[in-house]
Amino acid sequence: MTDRLPTGATIGILGGGQLGRMLAMAAARLGYRCHIYEPGAAPAADVAHAWTQAPYEDLGALRDFARSCDLITYEFENIPAASLDVLAETTPLFPDRRALEISQDRLTEKTFLAGLGLATAPFAPVDTPADLAAALAATATPAILKTRRFGYDGKGQARVMAPDEAEAALATLQGAPAIAEGFVRFSREISVIAARGRDGTVAAYDPGENVHVDGILSTTTVPAALPLLQRTDAVLVASRILTALDYVGVMGVELFVTPQGLVVNEIAPRVHNSGHWTQAGCAVDQFEQHIRAIAGWPLGNGERHANVVMENLVGEEVTRAPALAAEPGVQIHLYGKTETRPGRKMGHVNRVTGPA
Ligand code: AMP
Repeated sequence: MTDRLPTGATIGILGGGQLGRMLAMAAARLGYRCHIYEPGAAPAADVAHAWTQAPYEDLGALRDFARSCDLITYEFENIPAASLDVLAETTPLFPDRRALEISQDRLTEKTFLAGLGLATAPFAPVDTPADLAAALAATATPAILKTRRFGYDGKGQARVMAPDEAEAALATLQGAPAIAEGFVRFSREISVIAARGRDGTVAAYDPGENVHVDGILSTTTVPAALPLLQRTDAVLVASRILTALDYVGVMGVELFVTPQGLVVNEIAPRVHNSGHWTQAGCAVDQFEQHIRAIAGWPLGNGERHANVVMENLVGEEVTRAPALAAEPGVQIHLYGKTETRPGRKMGHVNRVTGPA
């Protein structure tokens, strides 16, 4: 499929959260309908043409969903392999399953990145407590144990300051296969949001600088306070990853800035929370860019016209939205979630701080 997806075609989105919601709105602007597949509550379904509410293991529901879509994309990574097989019977998936499978497993992901010659934290697999001694010999302490799969927002992680803490730390991961990572002493965390089109064109946005609170992204600031050369370096790292995967769509690449250079932390084969600033900073934001990439449109060039600070509204912080809306240059995005819970991303604001 190399032609542009025709107007009125249906894009399937696996996952119905805020990322799916913003993708569906961007797709609508380009003349498409979206069909959301989401087992739970689906803020994306409020702005979409159709919604299948069924588990990711319901192969019959997945088959019907796939048949109703001209192509399928996703806003979250943890889609079972058997489900991907069913979707593939009828409908193309972008980004394809190789990108998905690499990023689903931290060990596969780190091995892939290291194989490209990119710097990562030292890492080693930990399947059982018997692996701990050898793994920590490879990574040194302090280290972090992370579950290989299903981790997000700092969940499924335990710090190991000294080897004698390792068994207790591993026990908190409840027997899940894990990876040990050496602790990276970074000065900043940044991310690059980059896209690759079906024709192989790559376009990247400026790196954003990320601050996390309690393991959850709090703010992203552009420009990141980095020398120009290092910003360019970060974009080149992202471009390398996209090209190596023959990737189609938007990807988020998270990096640590260290005195020795950039270290890749992880990749997300989808639009990314740290790319929300593009809604206020660029003519073509990450959501439109993703739809353009998968639907065969020319990509936006990633150019930034404004300096922006994106701030997530987590839990009760969402009550600040009306006061924030009264400030000049502030763009409000609420996700339509009716239940506010601690740690739940309810919305975000983009504050334009000046021209680029
Ligand atoms: P992750 O789920 O891998 O993105 O990790 C969540 C956060 O934990 C990151 O944004 C970092 O702040 C921190 N972190 C993760 N891995 C490491 C590491 N190897 N060294 C130091 N900090 C880390």
